[in-house]
Amino acid sequence: MTQLVHTRADLREVLAGREGDQQKVGVVMTMGALHAGHRELVHVARARCAVVVVTVFLNPLQFAPSEDLSRYPKTLDDDVALCEQEGVDVVFAPAVEEVYPAGRPQVQVHAGPLGDVLEGASRPGHFDGVLTVVAKLLNLTRPDVAYFGQKDAQQLLLIARMVQDLNFPVEVDAVPTVRDPDGLALSSRNMYLTDDDRHAALSLSRALFAGVAEEAAGADAVRRAAHAVLDAEPSIALDYLALVDPATLAEVPDDDAGPALLAVAARVGTTRLIDNVPISLRDR
Ligand code: AMP
Repeated sequence: MTQLVHTRADLREVLAGREGDQQKVGVVMTMGALHAGHRELVHVARARCAVVVVTVFLNPLQFAPSEDLSRYPKTLDDDVALCEQEGVDVVFAPAVEEVYPAGRPQVQVHAGPLGDVLEGASRPGHFDGVLTVVAKLLNLTRPDVAYFGQKDAQQLLLIARMVQDLNFPVEVDAVPTVRDPDGLALSSRNMYLTDDDRHAALSLSRALFAGVAEEAAGADAVRRAAHAVLDAEPSIALDYLALVDPATLAEVPDDDAGPALLAVAARVGTTRLIDNVPISLRDR
């Protein structure tokens, strides 16, 4: 039976009975509108932890005024039903005032240089908002393990960096991206897409897979193959396509070998989508 709680006090109370006894606590943090990608995170957490907590919180701190906070889908009843099916112990769905009782927090986590590139270049301050709420939710849920999706690779990297740099006593585990059968990465924002948008949006994952197909031919070939797919789709407005070092997020040189990350962001209709795939550049 999943317990739904909305306050920090109730969260503490339900967790107090379950912590201790070496019970491993896992948390999955979400903004709600749960889909099969979130389900996979929960599923992994359920398989590895004695107690699973899912947070559902649409964090205003990580949205710029021009972004989609007000239209972001809210489906709490369905979210709780999904959690129930997956055997989640606790859903923590606090109101904004519960998380930010004094309004915008004066002290926040600063993401640093890794937060200024790619998504951070398009969304200034976004990762400060993400890391601040993740830090708060880690302190409120006190998990042993926190699960995050590769879908948001830069977010995952920054959270791992925050945990390392600030010595949070938690393990961060990554879960691979879940896609629709046609390749589109699942996202709560896919709900905004019209049929035409959805068709155009497929060019993102197609571009990434075209890049993967060229990984043996080197970085330049990967970039060219991915760009060719994106250039052929006039209905998307490309924000960036980047082939970067997965640890530094710096563009990799053409003669690079080893692991890389091919990341894309584009506006499709009124919706901004992101996606990425790992690339393994071969020594040639
Ligand atoms: P969100 O609700 O979009 O903030 O996502 C909550 C968590 O689910 C984050 O760790 C995301 O990276 C992860 N996630 C979102 N979409 C997917 C997906 N398609 N596959 C795997 N994980 C995902």
